Amino acid sequence: MPCLVRRCLRLAVHPSLRHTAHVSPSRLTIHSGPPDHGHTDGADLLAWYDRHGRALPWRAKPADPYRVWLSEIMLQQTTVAAVIPYYEKFLTRFPDITDLARSSESDVMAAWAGLGYYARARNLHACAREVAGRGGFPADIAGLRVLPGIGPYTAAAIAALAFDVPAVPVDGNVERIAARVFAITEALPTARKAIADAAARLGRSPAAQARPADFVQALFDLGATVCTPTTPSCGRCPWRGGCAANRLGIAAELPRKAPRRMRPLRYGVHFWLTDPQGRVLLRRRPPRGLLGGMAELPGTPWRAETWPISEALALAPMAARWRPIGTIRHGLTHFELHLSVLAATVPYIAADGFLCAANDLAGQALPSVMRKCAVLGRAVETSAGSATSL
Ligand code: SF4
Repeated sequence: MPCLVRRCLRLAVHPSLRHTAHVSPSRLTIHSGPPDHGHTDGADLLAWYDRHGRALPWRAKPADPYRVWLSEIMLQQTTVAAVIPYYEKFLTRFPDITDLARSSESDVMAAWAGLGYYARARNLHACAREVAGRGGFPADIAGLRVLPGIGPYTAAAIAALAFDVPAVPVDGNVERIAARVFAITEALPTARKAIADAAARLGRSPAAQARPADFVQALFDLGATVCTPTTPSCGRCPWRGGCAANRLGIAAELPRKAPRRMRPLRYGVHFWLTDPQGRVLLRRRPPRGLLGGMAELPGTPWRAETWPISEALALAPMAARWRPIGTIRHGLTHFELHLSVLAATVPYIAADGFLCAANDLAGQALPSVMRKCAVLGRAVETSAGSATSL
């Protein structure tokens, strides 16, 4: 009994479950974590998964490590619904690791354009070259961990999903489920270690150990479709009987998060410069750093102060009759961007960069923020005043 109480405290469980001398040992066992053979047994979850699991394009039996790896990289910071069309297009363009390894970085960046977090694409390409050179993916977490762009989470996910290694990668879905099943009330990010320990315990049941890949997919699916962030459907959950947060009525509150700091604002001005042939001036960002290697409309640096028009025009690619055509807002990881776009047409473009037919912009490796700017420019081109999609 004392050791069960200590386990509760380590996991920072709900206060009502601490110091509860009147609570029976069996109740304490449930709330100190899912017992290996208790109400949150992996067998219940796997039975649910066999009936209700999602059909996703990267899931296949036997698993293809290339597809698993590609999907995991794409899914970082991006939703399943947003990834699927990119994933399918990417696979058509690069059907296997050898095709990807042989391609140029600019081809990969162009296929990735729109998915954001472009360092992922550069690492993807570097990783493909390394894996193709060694004849395949390593089948263990330690071997995967040293490859470009593969951190602890992704290594565990690939090992489990592609090679049936018994590991529980903790993404947002798994984090939420573990915090709720164990009623971990401490706020993130402090609670991260306790939640990771709890997630590992979930994977220790014999059923989970027998089907590691399916168990992880089942956790992902439970989090995505039942144990959802704001309105968990506990009545449909295979683990409702053993879930501490459900019993306490606090499921929707967990996991708790420390208040977010506001992202700072950055300002910039970009220039939509066209010639009479309908070509627009682009330039390439430096290969490393934020949005490295991507194409963009020429513009000012992004800074914390707004740009007086005269100061911005001093950085225009050419002298011209610039006119404002609108502003866009766009969130990047560490700041919010507020960009003004100026447009001009000149008889002949003589400036650093390269020209692209406005109709061909969709094929360029333009990050989402630049696509928003270009939509403003296209609207001016068509003189319709309404936005044109790229
Ligand atoms: S019972 Fe509710 S809170 Fe608990 S794991 Fe299931 S859906 Fe999530």
